[in-house]
Amino acid sequence: MEIACLDLEGVLVPEIWIDFANRTGIEELKATTRDIPDYDVLMKQRLALLKQHGLKLQDIEAVIADISPLDGAIDFINWLRERFQVVILSDTFYEFSAPLMKQLGWPTLLCHKLEVDAEGNVVDYHIRQKDPKRTSVKAFHGLNYRVIAAGDSYNDTTMLSEAETGILFHAPQNVKDEFPQFQAVDTFADLKQAFIDASVRDLSLD
Ligand SMILES: [Mg+2]
Repeated sequence: MEIACLDLEGVLVPEIWIDFANRTGIEELKATTRDIPDYDVLMKQRLALLKQHGLKLQDIEAVIADISPLDGAIDFINWLRERFQVVILSDTFYEFSAPLMKQLGWPTLLCHKLEVDAEGNVVDYHIRQKDPKRTSVKAFHGLNYRVIAAGDSYNDTTMLSEAETGILFHAPQNVKDEFPQFQAVDTFADLKQAFIDASVRDLSLD
């Protein structure tokens, strides 16, 4: 039995915070862990900015509803789901990704959670567990699944190492250079082929 684990942002959909920052014009929301390495400091800043700009969850959802999955992503995930059990392992939050998950047909998503008060203000965030992507792959191994995983960045590399096969997709050159042990592909056609090659089953590219 095989499970396909996919990262979400950068693989199936754009980087949600960046796209959200572009659409709202709040430049400071473009900061990532490259700018602020402490994730807790970064998230607290993001939540403070949402509050400062008076953005409640429903406003955020309305903006995110206008974001589309990457070109070819919907066809790809439909193709993949006909051939594998598919689970998306992401460091996003359910509340942020919901409008995009709807467009993807609600595949299974394991990620984190925001805390929202009765007025709809985002007041805190909750990380599901430490090293969640690797831990999820380990858990699937405990259920006797082989895992083929694909992701685009540093936060995917423990998932890719833990899986039977790890594939880099749309990865920046520095990630490709730093992790040459993973096959790197850049188109959905090549990603399909990489899943076919990694499978122990005979899957045709049709
Ligand atoms: Mg990503």
